[in-house]
Amino acid sequence: MFTSLSDRLSATFKNLRGKGRLSEADVDATIREIRRALLDADVALPVVRAFTGAVRERALSDEVSQALNPSQQVVKIVNDELVGILGGQTRRIQFAKRPPTVIMLAGLQGAGKTTLAGKLAHWLTSEGHRPMLVACDLQRPNAVNQLQIVGERAGAFVYAPEPGNGVGDPVKVARDAIEVAKTKLHDIVIVDTAGRLGIDEELMRQAADIRAAVNPDEVLFVIDAMIGQDAVTTAQAFNEGVDFTGVVLSKLDGDARGGAALSVASVTGKPIMFASTGEGLTDFETFHPDRMASRILDMGDVLTLIEQAEKTFDAKQTEQLAKKVEKGEDFDLNDFLVQMESIKKMGSLKKMIAMMPGAAQFKEQLEAFDEREIDRVEAIVRSMTPQERANPRILNGSRRARIARGSGRTVTDVNQLMERFEHARKMMRQAASGRGMPQMPGMGG
Ligand code: GDP
Repeated sequence: MFTSLSDRLSATFKNLRGKGRLSEADVDATIREIRRALLDADVALPVVRAFTGAVRERALSDEVSQALNPSQQVVKIVNDELVGILGGQTRRIQFAKRPPTVIMLAGLQGAGKTTLAGKLAHWLTSEGHRPMLVACDLQRPNAVNQLQIVGERAGAFVYAPEPGNGVGDPVKVARDAIEVAKTKLHDIVIVDTAGRLGIDEELMRQAADIRAAVNPDEVLFVIDAMIGQDAVTTAQAFNEGVDFTGVVLSKLDGDARGGAALSVASVTGKPIMFASTGEGLTDFETFHPDRMASRILDMGDVLTLIEQAEKTFDAKQTEQLAKKVEKGEDFDLNDFLVQMESIKKMGSLKKMIAMMPGAAQFKEQLEAFDEREIDRVEAIVRSMTPQERANPRILNGSRRARIARGSGRTVTDVNQLMERFEHARKMMRQAASGRGMPQMPGMGG
């Protein structure tokens, strides 16, 4: 996401490097580049104007810090202003004082509401809640069914109208659902509503009626980040028609130019609360304006990365491994397998690497990287016996041929993997013995 905007901004900042002072002309040239980059990323014009105006004013003011060089200063100002237009502070779900908390989803058809309902249910369950999903999209023939499938996958109960009972009246379904949630002790009710292909009055009235009937704690407006400039008019219409409390940007994994993200919060004055980044149940994150700005400026999103790692890594395992390496004991292929599994649990390797500072430099390699490579390596290691994994020295020709057959790879693949593994092991041993520092002769003590 945001790669082309990110590249353009980085290129702009590069031009400032090495300059001792920024003249007004330097600042204006930079602002022009930033303006073009934002417009090309589909950011709405009023937002671009306000943004560049603020950056210019600050870049020319006296706030300029002694600690930073001119290009760092501009990056800092752009970063601050980006955080601002993305909504400033991270905004979390407000839970009702008396359960159930009601979360209503609204947006155009295809925006990603039903998918989001599943993601929210999955996430809230992992946080210890008992969410319930409610099918209020009675327009699209298959919508109820789709929500049931999503609910099953997320392990959440789905309330849907019985045939002949309330069919066609989403307001009644929503109201009944709240009562059901109370008796069945669900502390969160997520109401999926109908969307249309375009904004229309009836759709808006229906959403407003549901809102009035169930008085939700949160009304989340889901918007497809790929719709570009239309995002602003759509968001404005929903803001007036339904008065949402927060925004969810979906499909940020696509090659969206990102303008929607940068415009919607600023135009509606409502915070972006979540980002959806794929079709899977876990492709979803809390939206942090500061971290997103950092990603856009290719300063990385190390915090999100650490959080994901903390969620999946087994502390005990990691500690054992660290001890092993510290003692200079051999890291073997059994350890390697454990590590590979932890990495796989964290999700897409590509997405993780993209969150590292400077990742934009590796864009091409990253795009060429095939996630299935990990599965291939794993297949090879799994085709070994535990003894072979513990003591790879015994891997002679016939063993390697057997492993290749077992994993559906070639002997060359097996050999290459072993070479890479031996190399990695050597580096670890070196790091463990000399703490990674080459010892200088005659400098003992
Ligand atoms: P709804 O009509 O608003 O309920 O939209 P759906 O939840 O049915 O989503 C429409 C389509 O977009 C489906 O094919 C989803 O799998 C897909 N989709 C939803 N969210 C995402 C996302 O974050 N990334 C991608 N790539 N696809 C998504």
